[in-house]
Amino acid sequence: MGNIVAIVGRPNVGKSTLFNRLTKSRKAIVNEVSGTTRDRQYGKVEWCGKEFSVIDTGGWVVNSEDIFEEEINKQVALAIDEADVILFVVDVMTGTTNLDDHVAEILRKSKKPIFLIANKTDTNELQYNAAEFYRLGLGDPWCISAINGFGTGDLLDEVIAKFPEKEEEVIEENIPRIAVVGRPNAGKSSIINAFIGEERYIVTDIAGTTRDSIFTRYNKYGFDFYLVDTAGIRKKGKVTEDIEYYSVIRSIRAIESSDVCILMIDATRGIESQDQNIFSLIQKNKKGLVVCVNKWDLVEDKSNKAIKTFEDAIRERFAPFVDFPIVYTSALTKQRIFKVLEMASMVYKNRHNHIPTAKLNEEMLPLIENFPPPAHKGKYVKIKYITQIKGSYVPTFVFFCNLPQWVKEPYKRFLENKIREKWDFTGTPINIFMREK
Ligand code: GDP
Ligand code: GDP
Repeated sequence: MGNIVAIVGRPNVGKSTLFNRLTKSRKAIVNEVSGTTRDRQYGKVEWCGKEFSVIDTGGWVVNSEDIFEEEINKQVALAIDEADVILFVVDVMTGTTNLDDHVAEILRKSKKPIFLIANKTDTNELQYNAAEFYRLGLGDPWCISAINGFGTGDLLDEVIAKFPEKEEEVIEENIPRIAVVGRPNAGKSSIINAFIGEERYIVTDIAGTTRDSIFTRYNKYGFDFYLVDTAGIRKKGKVTEDIEYYSVIRSIRAIESSDVCILMIDATRGIESQDQNIFSLIQKNKKGLVVCVNKWDLVEDKSNKAIKTFEDAIRERFAPFVDFPIVYTSALTKQRIFKVLEMASMVYKNRHNHIPTAKLNEEMLPLIENFPPPAHKGKYVKIKYITQIKGSYVPTFVFFCNLPQWVKEPYKRFLENKIREKWDFTGTPINIFMREK
């Protein structure tokens, strides 16, 4: 299960610089999705074979100089609730402020592993300044420089050592894991209720678990899958639910633990930034997607034209990835809720589609010949051969050619679209890679 590291601290201590160093210094595991991602707040890190997520909670709160104590309180509450390890960043150049004292006071009450990060230690001399931070009562300060990288490797070694021992849940492979995500009040609990009825909250016994299981086996009406039910969905209201970043961050675990996400959208509100943020998380993690436009019972105009308008709006906001099913539901009247499960199963199946190499070349090469990659400085890119990698988590196509570095995003998108036209990959992301032959 993915671990989460949260970065907290007052403005200007270097949180986002540290976030960038941690997430960018490693080879990006997940391909960038153009346009939609807000990289500043959520990223993935791989260190010594361990993968984890980093969130810069400061990136989610109002970014102003005179940040109020209230904002900091939310930021820290969020970290304490949701993260496995907390990095509390202070600044050796300016020393402590009242706000640092305030944050330290809250953090001292938490049981989560906390690292006190004395950032901006760009030179050896500056290390002496860090002694001042002992009085925050959070143990030894870790001297680092987010800008030049000093100390960050040692820090990461210690951070991964502090990840809690989690009992791996023993769940059966080859059974889809489906998560319901979306902003507060979109109807997540209601639809989960509609799926599993009275059995809700009665967590099935899964071997090897003593604590809260997040997987509920759903084996009814011809369906068989795990419903990913994280605390984020189950428990409500510890911190006001309508804080945008809160619901987004709570979605991280559910998304990471799933194969297919059902993204709930409130039909009465349309698509807002929060929906887009959750969508970006799904994309970044390369999960399957079914969009569920819920509270359809409250929508008066259900004409085909109105549906088309809705659909266009959704696909436009989520572009360039537009090949996913949209279902109009009412969790209240249970209208089309089984359709949602059918679509989720279909998306899971599409994820495992494999196109035989001969077929792939037979269909794609003539298309490529008719519309080759644009020439670069007078040189022509020649795609010779295509194959789909067997057994990859996301359908992955490799195009062997002479000059792979010159095939740019728009052409890759063209190839992706053609693949999607010819074969059914609805709802699942696909990877397009160019390799030298
Ligand atoms: P945030 O508000 O906590 O996210 O802080 P930022 O990451 O935006 O950094 C605030 C300022 O401190 C920027 O001008 C950074 O370039 C600078 N900064 C961040 N880390 C370091 C560091 O390790 N050394 C020095 N000298 N400056 C830093
Ligand atoms: P969550 O925060 O995403 O889990 O949302 P809830 O499931 O708690 O639903 C929030 C509110 O919307 C509740 O008052 C529900 O009764 C209501 N609601 C959920 N789904 C529907 C629906 O399809 N139609 C209508 N009319 N109300 C709904």
